[in-house]
Formats: sequence, C-alpha cells, structure tokens
Amino acid sequence: MKEYVTEIIKIDESLIEEGNIDSLKELPALQRAAELLKEGEVVAFPTETVYGLGADATNPEAIKKIYQAKGRPQDNPLIVHIAAFNELDGLVKGSLNPLAERLIKAFWPGPLTIVVDKREIIPDETTAGLDSVAIRMPDHPLTRAIIQLAGVPIAAPSANKSGAPSPTRAEHVFADLQGRIPLILDGGPARVGLESTVVDVRSERVQILRPGGVSREEIREVIGAYLYEPGEEAGSIKKSRTAEKPLSPGMKYRHYSPETPLFIIKDESSLKKLLQSGLPENTALILSDEWASKYGPGLKDIKVIKMGPRERPELIAAGIFQLLRYLDTLSLDRAYIEAIPEKGIGEAIMNRIRKASSRE
Ligand code: AMP
Ligand code: MG
Repeated sequence: MKEYVTEIIKIDESLIEEGNIDSLKELPALQRAAELLKEGEVVAFPTETVYGLGADATNPEAIKKIYQAKGRPQDNPLIVHIAAFNELDGLVKGSLNPLAERLIKAFWPGPLTIVVDKREIIPDETTAGLDSVAIRMPDHPLTRAIIQLAGVPIAAPSANKSGAPSPTRAEHVFADLQGRIPLILDGGPARVGLESTVVDVRSERVQILRPGGVSREEIREVIGAYLYEPGEEAGSIKKSRTAEKPLSPGMKYRHYSPETPLFIIKDESSLKKLLQSGLPENTALILSDEWASKYGPGLKDIKVIKMGPRERPELIAAGIFQLLRYLDTLSLDRAYIEAIPEKGIGEAIMNRIRKASSRE
C-alpha cells in the first residue's frame, strides 16, 4: 500500500458556523481536497455524524483505496454522499418510492441514509456487489462544499481503522490513519457523534437497517404504520435475507470496539449487585451523570467515568466514541458501562455499545 505524509488542515470554525457553502468553496484547503478526490485519492473530512473517509463513488480504483486505508472487509458496502436533492435522480434506478420522498423531505440534509436500487454509474466496488446503493445528503456545509467542488458523488465510511470506535474529531482520524491517507480536513468535533440511520425504502414498508442519528420515533412521525417495528419484519423480510445477500452486510461485524474489554450493566439492580460483589482492581465504571453522583462517592479505587445525563441522550451520543477512545489510554483490565433507555437516539447509542462490548 502507498505511504503518505498525512496533512491536517484546520478550517476556520466561524466559517463553518456561518454555513455559507460558497465562501467555503473559496478556501484553498477545500480546493485541494476536491482535486485529490477528482484524481482518485481519498480524503478525510468532518460530517455532522462522524468524520468520513471520502472517495469518488463512481471510480472503482478510488473506492479500493478506502477499503485498503481502513482495512475494511470487502463485503461491507459504502454510503454515497450527495450535495443536493437533484443529484439523487442520477443514482437511483427507476422511480423513488413516495415513502422515501417523504423521508428525505423531512430529514435531508441530515443523518438519514436511504437504500435504493442503484444505477450503473455506481460500480460494484462501492456497493460490495449489491444491486442497491445507500445514499445520504449530509447536514454539514463543509461536506457539501467538498462534494460540490469535486463534482461527483462521494462514497464515505467513517474515517477510522476498521473495527475501532468511529472518529468524531480530526485527531481520532490521524491516530488511526496517519501515513495511510494524504489529507484530513479538521472542522472541529462532529455534532451528532453517531452514524446515520440506514433505512431500506425499496418496498411498500420501510425498514430500519441500522439505528442512528434520526430516531425511530422521528421516522414513525413521518410515515406512521409504513415503518416496520422491531419483530414485525420477521415474515417477509427474513425470507428475503439469504446468506449471500444479507440486507445490511456491515451490521454483522464487530465494530466500534475499544481494546479494553467492555461489559454492559443492564439496569440499576445489576449495578448494585456488581458493587456488592466487589469490583476487581484496575476496573472502570462508565456511568450516566445521574448514576455517577448516586453511586460514585461511595467507591474507592474504582475509576468512574461520566458519560453524560440519562435525560439528555443526545449529549451521550455526541461523546460516546471519544469516551471509548479515552478508555484505551487508561490501561485498565476491564470496564463496565451503564445501559441507557432505548428511546430516541438511545436506541442507536445502545446498538453501538452492544457492538463495542465483549460478551461473557
Ligand atoms: P459505515 O459507512 O461504516 O457507517 O456503514 C455503512 C452502513 O450502511 C453499513 O451498516 C452497511 O451495511 C450499510 N449499507 C451500505 N450500503 C448498503 C446497501 N446497499 N444495502 C444495505 N445496507 C447498506
Ligand atoms: Mg464505520
């Protein structure tokens, strides 16, 4: 694999806050990023969900570089990012399901990815051989400015080493991919902190393939009974799920994992039992602010890491990947993390925590 001297360029945060895509497009750093993308190179940049590692979604050679840089399994397809609604037509085969139209009207730009039938312009490399493609329009002016300058749809998975916690800051990308990619644009911390919600919109009802930044409740508000609820998918969808063509190939992998073995505390009585049994040395407890104030003061020799308020799960979401990376700097033997209610974005948080955790 080619070696690079990885450059990080900091983008003025006030320009990002202003949100003026045209003035961002004037920046030499963005023009450089776009040139690299057009030449078939990879570039890391912020989105509102997490940092992405982008490449021209229509260029098979460029796409291969994403898989190489991340060490990503070949059968895990990529999400294609666009900058405007009208770019969708060129990528979708046939007409768009009206349910999909309602969803993108409600949530784009934003952390919702739709899976649709793909046109030929998207090569098999991008979709890992599937006939479908996952597409989203990100809600970050810097990301959209880069896509516009590059003039092509941009495939971008999270910019981390495959299996590691997703990057929510430029330094996380550097830690994982230094020497493996030419450029990182630093746009400050990612706002949402978790990846997009992936929905399959190819049939008469919509299925959530991966929970993420847009919650089940928010989707339900838009399409009501046209959303499959957990368990309901069982019949028709399970039948269509064959070994060769799983619905969302990426979901089978262990993901987001810290090196430190992580175990889930499923409720308050489990926490009490755990504390009574006496925790071994060199252990950390990752608790909500509420439980940390309630149980933390009585604990000696146990490191308590606060993850944010149970009442404000969006704050937990914004910091969870950074917290998992921080955990690995502490050289602990193990850590326990509190389960939070699976409401709103809590569903996506618990999905990531489960994948990050070891099973006993
Ligand atoms: P990542 O880019 O790592 O956040 O992961 C992308 C997610 O989207 C994975 O869970 C993939 O399995 C899923 N995905 C991407 N393309 C498709 C597709 N064509 N059909 C179903 N799921 C997809
Ligand atoms: Mg990822």
